[in-house]
Amino acid sequence: MFDFHMHSLVSFDGHDTAEAMVEAAAKAGLKEICFTDHIDYFANTQVQDWVFSNEAYSSAYDSLHHPEVKIRRGMEFGLKPYNATMLKEDLKRRPFDFVLGSVHFVDELDVYYPEYWDGKTIFEAEARYLQEVLDCVRVHEDFDVLGHLTYISKCRAHPSPRPVIYADHAEILDEILRILARKGKGMEINTSGVDRCGDFLPYAPYFRRFKELGGTIVTIGSDAHTASRVGQYSDRACEILKDIFGYVCTFENRQPIFHKL
Ligand SMILES: [Zn+2]
Ligand SMILES: [Zn+2]
Repeated sequence: MFDFHMHSLVSFDGHDTAEAMVEAAAKAGLKEICFTDHIDYFANTQVQDWVFSNEAYSSAYDSLHHPEVKIRRGMEFGLKPYNATMLKEDLKRRPFDFVLGSVHFVDELDVYYPEYWDGKTIFEAEARYLQEVLDCVRVHEDFDVLGHLTYISKCRAHPSPRPVIYADHAEILDEILRILARKGKGMEINTSGVDRCGDFLPYAPYFRRFKELGGTIVTIGSDAHTASRVGQYSDRACEILKDIFGYVCTFENRQPIFHKL
């Protein structure tokens, strides 16, 4: 019914046009979607930032409409402990409905690839990643929802992709969830983990704990980079949120809207 995380060709790694993504959303029976194209900055000036141009963004989305699907416009900003002011600058580009904050890099290494994993056990790779997420949610104020908290579990370089077990990192995870709740930030149930590591990113017990610690805002995202994955497993994610919260959120003009399930 809702998919608040997807990438069209506006993102450097998207494969399909915005129109194709919207058509797929309509076919999947979704009522409302949000484009969340990447903005990731790198300290290494040799590497090109993953940043869309305002022109590409506007020409893809400004005149995009569908009779059955409400279309929201957002971004997925790559959080780093030192880039809070950069996010503030990017927010001046145009009005956005929704800002996902996600961690893709640790110590300037893309956790998706082997270099990050070299010399680390799975536990160490998870712990270092989650510490980075904690450092980011402590300093960042300008995102709405934390994207794929357990992204590390679906990385290509993971020696045996599996969900991050809550109990293995309970102390640091509790602290992350507590900060999100206190700051009025949400948590995403990212469905892309189902095919990649066997469960949602993160899985159901994280949301139960989030609620216990005062969290109220929850969104669903497929993280689709192709039209074929738009809305994938969003019905199953909905069931989980229905069970725990009884609702799911969408966003308009950076404000959460609560939809009873
Ligand atoms: Zn992401
Ligand atoms: Zn994404």
